[in-house]
Amino acid sequence: MNKQQEQSSDLRAGSYRIPDNLRAYIQPETVITRSPGRINLIGEHTDYNNGFVLPAAIDKAAYVAMTPRADQEIHLYSVDMEERYHCTTDNINASADMSWPNYILGVVQQFLLAGIAVGGFDAALTGDIPIGAGLSSSAAVECAVAFALNKLYVANLDKLSIVKLAQRAENQFVGVQCGIMDQFASVFGKYNHVIKLDCRSLAYEYEPFNMDGIKVLLLDTNVKHSLGSTEYNVRRIQCETGVALVQQRYGNVTSLRDVDLAMLDECVKPADELVYRRCRYVIEENNRLLNACRDLEAGNLRAFGKRMYQSHEGLSTMYEVSCPELDFLVDYVRDKPAVLGARMMGGGFGGCTINLVEEGAVDALIAGAAAAYTAAKGKTLKAYVARIESGTCLL
Ligand code: ADP
Ligand code: MG
Repeated sequence: MNKQQEQSSDLRAGSYRIPDNLRAYIQPETVITRSPGRINLIGEHTDYNNGFVLPAAIDKAAYVAMTPRADQEIHLYSVDMEERYHCTTDNINASADMSWPNYILGVVQQFLLAGIAVGGFDAALTGDIPIGAGLSSSAAVECAVAFALNKLYVANLDKLSIVKLAQRAENQFVGVQCGIMDQFASVFGKYNHVIKLDCRSLAYEYEPFNMDGIKVLLLDTNVKHSLGSTEYNVRRIQCETGVALVQQRYGNVTSLRDVDLAMLDECVKPADELVYRRCRYVIEENNRLLNACRDLEAGNLRAFGKRMYQSHEGLSTMYEVSCPELDFLVDYVRDKPAVLGARMMGGGFGGCTINLVEEGAVDALIAGAAAAYTAAKGKTLKAYVARIESGTCLL
């Protein structure tokens, strides 16, 4: 990134406003942070295969107002839920009946484990990321808290350390085995850019994503099939099985990242047709993502959108992690000229589709999709419109 780009992303931070509902909690020493939710444009089920993902931070965020205290007490307040929780720094107790305090306390615990002397504080939390919709509101909360603690206790952690610390908080304190993408995208997001993140090396590059006249539309199926978590584990094992089969002939292979389609044809196809299809999707998805980055560099969002449809096709027919509701929503938009591309986003078996839509067509599309979805599936559709914005910052 050159100096000018660096400055322009910094300047963006000045345009984010403190939410009105946090103003009551601001005192002279208060630190206020904003940390956004994220989308992933392409590159699904590639992270645990050492592949690439292509996330971006969005214009919906979590906000924390944190004020130091003279004692060792931690007083937390959720403005949105109107709930309070409190404990002390020498006894970081997880909350049993409310989930939200644990996303904050997990981060505090990681600071303490890192040897950073965190004192008592008051924190008020609010946000406008839809919860549980696959936009990673949890990572946003963690990263907002981590940024605030980093500032308040002058810990001088760099961005990547904050990302890893927030991920450990979710893994260890909340008990969710998330990868690194969500926290990475929240912290490293950049206005009108997507992040090409190499999950093997954590090397990253920004790719331009010009949102002029385009909106990201998330269509929420409002379903979460219970199959999801078991099938996720099955997919991971199938990918490992594929790697093991390739390793018999190519000893230096450690993940699907090291495998190309020719090796797969040679080693896996004759042995296990199902594992072959799973692995083939992953390798194709990585290749698709790299080609999609070239589309972005050429400013060709239409070509990019076509690859999103291909990604969905692979997820649905080869990797088999879609569901009838997700397929319905992608099929519904497929022949609409105002929709550049669409696919399921996230682990699958429910959640949202992500759509690139011409701005002027968004409202009519939502209305049409909602009516069609209810008629076909008897369920209510939810819709969120997003822009690509910058990552975590102080306000
Ligand atoms: P997501 O896909 O949105 O990350 P998760 O289930 O992983 O869904 O995390 C959602 C949880 O994060 C919520 O149940 C809540 O505990 C916490 N959270 C997110 N946003 C807020 C908020 N604005 N206020 C309080 N808690 C929040
Ligand atoms: Mg989450």
